[in-house]
Amino acid sequence: MSDQSALRPATIAVTAGRPPHVTDEPLNVPITMAATYVAGGDREYGRYANPTWTAFEDALGALEGGRCLSFASGLAAVATVFDLVGQGEKVVAPRHAYNGTVLQLADLESRGRLLTQLVDITDTAAVIAAAEDASIVWIESPTNPALEVADIAAIAAGARAAGAYVVVDNTFATPMLQQPLSLGADIVVHSATKYIAGHSDVLMGALVTNDDELYGVLKGRRDLVGAIPGPFEAWLALRGLRTLPLRMERAQANAQELVDRLKAHDAVEEVRYPGFGAIVAPVLKGGAIAGDLLQQKTKLWVYATSLGGVESSLERRRRWKSEPTTIPEGLVRLSVGIEDVEDLWADLKQALDDLLVDSAS
Ligand SMILES: *Cc1c(COP(=O)(O)O)cnc(C)c1O
Repeated sequence: MSDQSALRPATIAVTAGRPPHVTDEPLNVPITMAATYVAGGDREYGRYANPTWTAFEDALGALEGGRCLSFASGLAAVATVFDLVGQGEKVVAPRHAYNGTVLQLADLESRGRLLTQLVDITDTAAVIAAAEDASIVWIESPTNPALEVADIAAIAAGARAAGAYVVVDNTFATPMLQQPLSLGADIVVHSATKYIAGHSDVLMGALVTNDDELYGVLKGRRDLVGAIPGPFEAWLALRGLRTLPLRMERAQANAQELVDRLKAHDAVEEVRYPGFGAIVAPVLKGGAIAGDLLQQKTKLWVYATSLGGVESSLERRRRWKSEPTTIPEGLVRLSVGIEDVEDLWADLKQALDDLLVDSAS
């Protein structure tokens, strides 16, 4: 294969993880269904290696600038990282990190496995101070769904000086908009379920690191625990990743257009948007009731959890009992897709207009 490092991201997304150009051979890596391999080589068994995973891992690794390991889901990847924390050691994490991440930490803490310190990830000095006696500083940026942005480079420098590993959940930004390893992080985490695979039809996770020793430890954990993806899932995720640059470009442009229009709408109190990416979080003046109604009144936008698919979807986050109470009741998370923005706005506007009629009557 050609030297990927010389290529630009949009080219890497298309070319990385392909077989060499050989007459009559397919352009794409096939789906290899194999529980075991003829002995004597490097693969040996289906829990240790699969060529379809490798193709996906080569591509995502090249985009993030490290070596990638794929997992059964984003949370399987998250759990693998927390597994590295020594007995009773501390993890610093954003108070508004992905709900499943915070729930895993709470579960581990309740069983005496580790200590958790939740922080405001935008308060760089406080995060670095908390890193002093920590094993891992966990960053998510932007956070889900508060959309807070962390200063990854500054936190990574401070945390690493204190001897902590720096882990960044890059699910929202994707490597198209942010490459945490180049900012000093040790490990990048992905829910590939979201933008990487991009079509709301597959669950998968990934870890990427440029530290060979860490890669070996993480690979060892995956071999041992077995939180591996299916070959078909890896194939679908790679197929999705091929169009990641185009999808992000379009979804982000749509999001930026919608932010301005939402801000001007009378049903909207404020609009949270970090300036990049395709997740937008309007907070509705009508609170929980308005949010629940909005979920029912859109026709194009799908009322569904999850995000990062080609289709636009929305949900009021506080409908989940586990969502922190610091997230406003009227916050609706919009995952902006790649449809025509005029159609997206028309649907959202008729639903928002309806809220005003309902509250007036
Ligand atoms: C969805 C998500 C996860 C969990 O990934 P799954 O694939 O659902 O297990 C982790 N982090 C973030 C930011 C997410 O959005």
